[in-house]
Amino acid sequence: MYPTLVLRHLLPLLLILCASQPAAGRPLRVVVAVSDLGAIAHEILGPNATITVLAKATQDPHFVDARPSLILDLNRADAICVMGLDYEVGWLPVLLQGARNAALQKGAPGYIDTSTMITPLDVPRGPIDRSMGDIHPGGNPHFTLDPRNGVRIARGLALRFAAIDPAGKATYQKNAEAFAHRLEGKIADWERLLAPFRGAPVVTYHRSFVYLLTWLGLVETATIEPKPGIPPNPAYVAQLIQHMRAQHVRIILQERWYPSSTAALIGQSAGGKVVLVDGMSTGDSYIDHIDQLVHAMASGLS
Ligand SMILES: [Zn+2]
Repeated sequence: MYPTLVLRHLLPLLLILCASQPAAGRPLRVVVAVSDLGAIAHEILGPNATITVLAKATQDPHFVDARPSLILDLNRADAICVMGLDYEVGWLPVLLQGARNAALQKGAPGYIDTSTMITPLDVPRGPIDRSMGDIHPGGNPHFTLDPRNGVRIARGLALRFAAIDPAGKATYQKNAEAFAHRLEGKIADWERLLAPFRGAPVVTYHRSFVYLLTWLGLVETATIEPKPGIPPNPAYVAQLIQHMRAQHVRIILQERWYPSSTAALIGQSAGGKVVLVDGMSTGDSYIDHIDQLVHAMASGLS
């Protein structure tokens, strides 16, 4: 409702801004849905580009407040980078519609869906309906938590940014390769650190760590949400405590943006540690984000 209201006031201004872009030779203006993509884009584009992140790093990206100021950011942008797989379906389409920026509409070179650069996990087989919870029909959208996907996204973004800004092609490719090289070195370190825990059972809050756990050979045996997006009831919590005891689950891995009281209760009753982590990069560095995640898990499992 309110994007329409805002548009009525902002439309004259938006049209002036439309007319002034894009300018060849100036640094790109890129909007990203989430901060992991912002941190990777920052590595590729360098310090001169303007990168605006729509979802705050401390906010669950399934639910973002569609603030009117975001429409203005989108109107001025050369590209939008999304996770895709319907991760942003609840809030991004209305913002993109309000922004009236032809360069950013689906199918345009400036609409960059990073899920096309990776292989999705959890692709549902057979029909899906609302009784199954918040299922994503194209697969699980939490793919930035496997750093091998970080490498793929970096290379994919370099190609897509070069298509919009051919003058920057060599720089984007050089930056992407330098980043991929650093990240691959860290991936080897992280794999060594977690190798002793291969096969360990882990309970998570939401099914958001499947890429991370699959990469490291850990096993998600249960989630605190009985179905994606559905909070647990007391009977389910009691079952989960039994499950954790029976399976000797040592850690509950959970993003800080979910309520932590249930995890604390389950952890206490079942003798497991609650490991709270950032679901997205809180600083400029994607490598720091994954590094903190991996070290938090290693210390929880030790
Ligand atoms: Zn999810």
